[in-house]
Amino acid sequence: MADPAPRTPLFTFENTYARLPERFFTKLDPTPVQAPRLLLLNEGLARELNLDPAALRSEAAVQSLGGNRVPDGAEPLAMAYAGHQFGGWVPQLGDGRAILLGEIIGRDGVRRDIQLKGSGPTPYSRMGDGRAALGPVLREYIVSEAMAALGIPTTRSLAVVTTGEAVFRDRALPGGILTRIARSHIRVGTFQFFAARRDTEALRLLADHVIDRHYPDARESDTPYRELLDRIVAAQADLVAAWMGVGFIHGVMNTDNMSVAGDTIDYGPCAFMDTYHPGTVYSSIDHGGRYAYGNQPGIAHWNLACLAQCLLPLIDGSEEQALEIAQDTINNFPDRYRAAHTRIFSAKLGLETVRESDADLIDGLLTTMEKGQADFTLTFRGLSELTGAGGDDESVRSLFVGPDAFDGWVADWRARLATEPRDDSARQTKMRAINPAYIPRNHLVEAALDAAVEGNDLEPLQDLRAVLQTPFSIQPGQERYAQPPKPDEEVKATFCGT
Ligand code: AMP
Ligand code: MG
Repeated sequence: MADPAPRTPLFTFENTYARLPERFFTKLDPTPVQAPRLLLLNEGLARELNLDPAALRSEAAVQSLGGNRVPDGAEPLAMAYAGHQFGGWVPQLGDGRAILLGEIIGRDGVRRDIQLKGSGPTPYSRMGDGRAALGPVLREYIVSEAMAALGIPTTRSLAVVTTGEAVFRDRALPGGILTRIARSHIRVGTFQFFAARRDTEALRLLADHVIDRHYPDARESDTPYRELLDRIVAAQADLVAAWMGVGFIHGVMNTDNMSVAGDTIDYGPCAFMDTYHPGTVYSSIDHGGRYAYGNQPGIAHWNLACLAQCLLPLIDGSEEQALEIAQDTINNFPDRYRAAHTRIFSAKLGLETVRESDADLIDGLLTTMEKGQADFTLTFRGLSELTGAGGDDESVRSLFVGPDAFDGWVADWRARLATEPRDDSARQTKMRAINPAYIPRNHLVEAALDAAVEGNDLEPLQDLRAVLQTPFSIQPGQERYAQPPKPDEEVKATFCGT
């Protein structure tokens, strides 16, 4: 018999994390599943990653994405990490239901992890089964891809496979596996894992790995680890401000769910706000509202202080000196965040120039929206359509309960616009490019997941995904995707489903 034709490997792996010492992870293969079936493949992302979509649909590839066959060149492992969960310290977490297959280089030259999430138990599973229910897997797929289309740094979703097995939560649910793509899966909690063990050698190796991978120019600095901290602080300030700009609530901002690359990671009970209120919480496990919309910048600051604590032994030989440097670096977060927030919201209001009083104009709108129970997304998108001359306010005005307060604010906004060099049409074009018409509204996401999981019907999910792929352009006939929920459609809580 002739030899089979030589196969090009599915992925061209180049694994650097697996080269770190053994205490960084546990090497193990995914646990096979009964009947892996490819449900979704993100062909656009596959191409960006230099992968062949047709090959990813092959039977052999589906076996790999289901965890039944380790692809050539992979070095499967579960990463070790620790973390503060809801403020409480947990010395050992780790990938309890995820396996890193390896790293590939995309068309853009960027190295990315390929991880299977829901791929079976690991030494870090604690009481968990190592599996994921299909609903939450599809939720991560749709929301992470929506975030990417909104231009917000995030992990990506390459594929969803059903396992042919049930997972048991409050009832039996179909199991799913997500192929997650990330610039890395290194978290604040990864640093905490080694800091808690006073393993300074590992901390240094980890910090060097993160510098090489995410912040290579920090290496040029005389104080590279201080520089590293500074870069991570800046990335988080930008990231959280970007979340705020689209009304995104992460839901579980534990230190183990904060990526040091500055990407949104670990989509659990996350949600986009409809009606604006800074106290908005959706997560069914967030009883105290710790991770409410308006608390997110403060929590990011707190998490970064945890990271700074870990880096102390690398920052300076003198403990006192290290503490002072770390403190200074962390103290920059509020200013950095405010600057990013003002930059984003100024752009959302169509302002090109910068004035000190703009922060008041932004706050004024947000306060008016809160009192007027206005829809966050529709308000900003609506403002994008208003003219500087006025007289066409009703479309936005009607979003407010007691619209008189809006009349006062909009007059101030117009007075400010009058000082701007841009004309209406140039301003509107810019505003439409930052104020999305479509976000993954909860009621739409829930309905699409319900159809997929309970009704075996993927069409609503695919339709929603298609709309969310170009969130800034009006898509005729898709008006219902822009609308907030009717009272009976409102989703008040989201579940992480773990
Ligand atoms: P999360 O809140 O999803 O970020 O998860 C926190 C920790 O619990 C991580 O260490 C996860 O790997 C682990 N975990 C979550 N769900 C499961 C599960 N079903 N089986 C095992 N570990 C899990
Ligand atoms: Mg997590």
